[in-house]
Amino acid sequence: MLKIDGLHKSFGDLEVLKGIDLSMHKGEVVVLIGASGSGKSTMLRCVNFMEMPTTGRIVFDGKPVGKIHDKLGHVYYVDSDLAQHRAHVGMVFQHFNLFPHMTVKQNVMEGAKTVLKLDKEECEHRAMKYLEKVGLAWKADAYPSSLSGGQQQRVAIARALAMEPALMLFDEATSALDPELVGEVLETMKELADEGMTMLIVTHELGFAYSVADRVMFLADGKILEQGKPEEVLTYPKEERTKKFLRGHGAFRLPEPQLD
Ligand code: ADP
Ligand code: MG
Repeated sequence: MLKIDGLHKSFGDLEVLKGIDLSMHKGEVVVLIGASGSGKSTMLRCVNFMEMPTTGRIVFDGKPVGKIHDKLGHVYYVDSDLAQHRAHVGMVFQHFNLFPHMTVKQNVMEGAKTVLKLDKEECEHRAMKYLEKVGLAWKADAYPSSLSGGQQQRVAIARALAMEPALMLFDEATSALDPELVGEVLETMKELADEGMTMLIVTHELGFAYSVADRVMFLADGKILEQGKPEEVLTYPKEERTKKFLRGHGAFRLPEPQLD
């Protein structure tokens, strides 16, 4: 489904991603953890081409995305290919950015309407279907400002799902929420995972990572330092940097991490 090959990303002189490789199959849930500044968001943003990789390829459903070389070896991305790719990749951010002047339902319809150009009836049908999935059909006609942060984030998830993406990216989807609102969003994400959605998730919620991930990857200094099943990486980390990171997030209620 998704293959990342030798992904490098630099901003000027700053090399943020230093060769990332990742293969994900359909239905797999991969959780990416790592310290602030390690390049997690940059990696997700490269996967849906909100940032252009400096070198390396993103292969989606067997096809390298949007990249052509001319005779001089210059690399271009084809805008229409990138747009098509993005339509297959849903993304949920820390800050939900719903349109304040639109109702919940209109927010969820927007992508299906403007990007997929579906007719109004189909857009409405999809909006209600995915609002129902996140448990917010009853808020369809409300405005975002009248919703709690957790509800707004669930609307943002419904908005991404209404595009019927093949892959969902979550970048610290609960980090901006008050603690008592985190659970409902994680619950919605867990339901999606249980239904077989392919998901690449950045989160600091290690208990959640432990329960939903098929694989956990620890990113440090722009490289994947360690990866494996959650019970391996989160409980029996091998690398010193991973141990240090987990000690700093020591509050999760799991089998005690074996940290020497
Ligand atoms: P994380 O999500 O793991 O906290 P980021 O991917 O946001 O890390 O950032 C990794 C590094 O890349 C940081 O040093 C950050 O300042 C830098 N960075 C991210 N985006 C940009 C940008 N658009 N321009 C310059 N530097 C950036
Ligand atoms: Mg980030």
